[in-house]
Amino acid sequence: MSTLKIKRITTELLDVPIKRPHQFSTVKVSDKSFVLVKIELSNGVTGIGEGTTPGIWWNGESVETMKLVIDRYAAPLLVEEKAAYVEKLLQKLNRHIRGNAFAKAAVEMALFDALGKTYHVPVHQLLGGHHQDKIPVRWALASGTPEGDIDEAKRHAAAGNYANFKTKSGHDAPENDARRNIRIAAGLRGHSSIGIDPNGSWDRMTVMKWMDAFFEAGIDFLEQPLPPQDFEGLARLSSMKKVPIMADESLASVQDALRLVQEKAADIFSLKIHKSGGMKNTVKIAGIAEAAGISCFGGTSLESSIGTAACVHAYASIPNLDYGSELFGPAWLADDLVKNPLVIKEGYIHVPHHPGLGVELDEAKVEKYKRKEEKGALAK
Ligand code: MG
Repeated sequence: MSTLKIKRITTELLDVPIKRPHQFSTVKVSDKSFVLVKIELSNGVTGIGEGTTPGIWWNGESVETMKLVIDRYAAPLLVEEKAAYVEKLLQKLNRHIRGNAFAKAAVEMALFDALGKTYHVPVHQLLGGHHQDKIPVRWALASGTPEGDIDEAKRHAAAGNYANFKTKSGHDAPENDARRNIRIAAGLRGHSSIGIDPNGSWDRMTVMKWMDAFFEAGIDFLEQPLPPQDFEGLARLSSMKKVPIMADESLASVQDALRLVQEKAADIFSLKIHKSGGMKNTVKIAGIAEAAGISCFGGTSLESSIGTAACVHAYASIPNLDYGSELFGPAWLADDLVKNPLVIKEGYIHVPHHPGLGVELDEAKVEKYKRKEEKGALAK
């Protein structure tokens, strides 16, 4: 297999509709953009990967920057290289291209898919084998009102779709956010529970003031309550030993993981394959967490079934995934890009066992959602 080479790398921008608008701390989105990456190997096998992000506000990358970085910089570095030398190829990318983790993750995903198909094994086997066959999924409540969120959560819990939930916060003032979440938690008492994600938009004093109330309300975790750089603040909140503190935007690289451990700034790591530059780095970060006694949560960048499959392969191989996941991307999109979308059944997403990522690209959907004209400022 040492003669197996990367022959061609191509990309395409796609815009897929979502079922209902999603309110993040800074933006409301009504469709989701992806960069689809195809890597063709010298044996004729083609692997697929996808890059996507909550938005450029999240880490500075967008699907447009990913496409440019892959087309102009990553592809020329990788074409004609030996495909099976994954770690070496990632090292080469890192030497020549600083940052751009989301773009690198999309490339790594397509490479692993192609290798899995070549060797006839699912990607989780290439990552060292899996620890579980199914992963619990939390649904994100983002209806806009506490009553709407409570109703939605109770409906899902009663139907057996999802057992636990997450709320997006940070759009409102921190005080109002805190009150709203406590109201939601109280409304769900006896039925279910929530974790809160303000995307780094709260401040230390607000969280400290409300921490006892969050604890009493049975909140499962506070995800990135403070800005990404405020490790000291996160450490203070964690030392209160009330509601567990989860690091998301503060955690991308393996070095971030080590620093969070050293500074005791997180009780839970929110993993995301895109922010960390791929599945391999994600598994490495989970290893650091495991050594430090920190739990992991399988985060999402709201991928289609392609990226979600990659997340499932990586997360399924992690033993300390104690808080389950939020891999609801395929259920949140109004359509998908594969012929065999991943399904969430009774609160769980199941690990694909077909070769590669285990999903088959639907070219008709690619044609349908292919970006035909410039979006945003570029359209003017
Ligand atoms: Mg988050």
